[in-house]
Amino acid sequence: MGRLVVVSNRVADPRKTASGGLAVALGQALEASGGLWFGWSGKVVENGTPGEGDLHRQTAGNVQLVTVDLSREDHDSYYLGYSNGVLWPVFHYRLDLADFDAGFIGGYRRVNQMFARKLAALLRPDDVIWVHDYHLIPLAAELRNMGCQQRMGFFLHIPLPPPLILAAVPEHDWLMRSLFAYDLVGFQSDADVAHFSRYVGTETSADILGEHEFRAFGKTLQVQSFPIGIDVDEFIALGQAREAQDMYNQIRDEYSRRRLLLGVERMDYSKGLPQRLKAFRQLLQNYPENLGSATLIQIAAPSRESVDAYAALRQELESLCGAINGNFGELDWMPVRYIHRSVARKRLPGLYRAASVALVTPLRDGMNLVAKEFIAAQDPEDPGVLVLSRFAGAAEQMRDALLVNPYDTTRTAETIQRALQMPLEERQHRHQALLQNIREHDVHWWRHRFLSALAAVPGG
Ligand code: UDP
Repeated sequence: MGRLVVVSNRVADPRKTASGGLAVALGQALEASGGLWFGWSGKVVENGTPGEGDLHRQTAGNVQLVTVDLSREDHDSYYLGYSNGVLWPVFHYRLDLADFDAGFIGGYRRVNQMFARKLAALLRPDDVIWVHDYHLIPLAAELRNMGCQQRMGFFLHIPLPPPLILAAVPEHDWLMRSLFAYDLVGFQSDADVAHFSRYVGTETSADILGEHEFRAFGKTLQVQSFPIGIDVDEFIALGQAREAQDMYNQIRDEYSRRRLLLGVERMDYSKGLPQRLKAFRQLLQNYPENLGSATLIQIAAPSRESVDAYAALRQELESLCGAINGNFGELDWMPVRYIHRSVARKRLPGLYRAASVALVTPLRDGMNLVAKEFIAAQDPEDPGVLVLSRFAGAAEQMRDALLVNPYDTTRTAETIQRALQMPLEERQHRHQALLQNIREHDVHWWRHRFLSALAAVPGG
C-alpha cells in the first residue's frame, strides 16, 4: 500500500494528548506510511473570496499536516449551514431542526471542490485516500472529476438514517450518488448499513450484489460497518497521570457521602439532555431515598453556538436545571451541578472514575465514545455502572450496559435506580465484559479493519 492520505474537516496534531484517541490512531497509520492529513485550518478569513483559501503546511514527525483557510461565506454555508444545519440534524433523525436554506448547498459544493482541487495537486498515483465524515461526502466525486484514480474510502462518523428521513434532504440523490465515487464506505453500525442498503433498494436503480456490495453509476461499492473504538491503553494511562488523579481525589473528597451520577457531552440536541434531566427528576420523585444524596454532574461543553437550535437547547437546559434544583435542593445539597464548559481530556478519567453511574442517553448517536471512556476509566474492583441509550451506535456492542429508551422517562428513572443499587458482584461482572469488548474493538482494530478492507477492494 502507498502513502495514506487522511482528509477530514478538522486536522489534529496526533502528538498532542488533547487531540484524543482518533487522532492518535490515524496519526500512527499516517506515521507508518509517511502520510498526509488534509483539512480546514480552523481559521475563518472575514473578507476572503469564497472557494479560495491559503494553504498551511506543517510537519509532525514524518506526517505532513496540510490545512486550508475558509472565507466567512464558505464557513457559514458549508460548515454552519449545510453540514451542521442540514446534514447533522437530518442524519440524527431531527427533520424538525433542519434549516433547509437553499443557499447552503452552494457553499458545501464549493468547499468540497476547493478541497479536491488543492488536494489533487498534492497527490501521488499510489496514495490511498481516507475521507472522514459528513462534511466531505462529495469529495471523492470531485476528485474523480479531476481525474484522480487513487483508491478512496469514506467513513461516516454519524448515523445514516432510514431512507424516508434521508429523502427529506433536497439533494439526497446527489449525496448518495456521490458515495459511489468511493471504493469503500464504512458506517458505525449494522443498522446504518441496513439503512444504506434499503435506500439503494428503494431510491435508486443500483444492483445489490451482496450484503456488502452494490453496483450503480458504472461503479461497484463495498459497504460495511466498522464501529469505532477508543485507545483503551492510552485512556487507562491518562487515568493514572496526575491531572486525572487530582480530579478523582477532589471529587471523591467533596462527594464522600453522596452518590454521583455523571453526564459528559458537547451540548447537542442529539444527546438527549432534557430527557435525561427529566428522568433524573423522576428518580428523585419516585425513589425519595435519593433525596439529599444523589447528585448529577452534567458537563455540557459549548458547541456550535451560532446555530439557532443549539441556543434554544441551552435555554431549555438552564430552565430545567433551575427548576430541579429549586424544587428538590436543600441548603447543603444541590441535585444537579450543570456545567456549561468543557473538561480537559486529561482530567476526564478522574471524573469518570469518581462516578457511581454514567448516564449516556443520546436520542441518536453514531457511536458515543464517552460510554467507552467511562468503562476504561473504572476501578475494576469497584466499578461504576453504565446506563446507555439503545439509540447510541455503541449499544450494538455494549450489551452488558443497562440499556434504556431515553424517551421513556419512567423506565429510565427505574433503570438509574437499579444502577445505583446494583450489587458489587454484578457491577464487576458487567464491567469486565464491557472492558473486554472495548479492548477487542479498540480504535486500532477499527483503523486496521477499515484500511485492510480498503486495500482488499478489487481493482480499486
Ligand atoms: N470531551 C472532552 N471534554 C468535554 C466533553 C467531551 O474531552 O468536556 C470528549 C470526550 O472525552 C469524547 C469526545 O469529547 O472523547 C466526545 O465524543 P463522543 O463520541 O461521545 O461524542 P461527539 O461529541 O463526537 O458527538
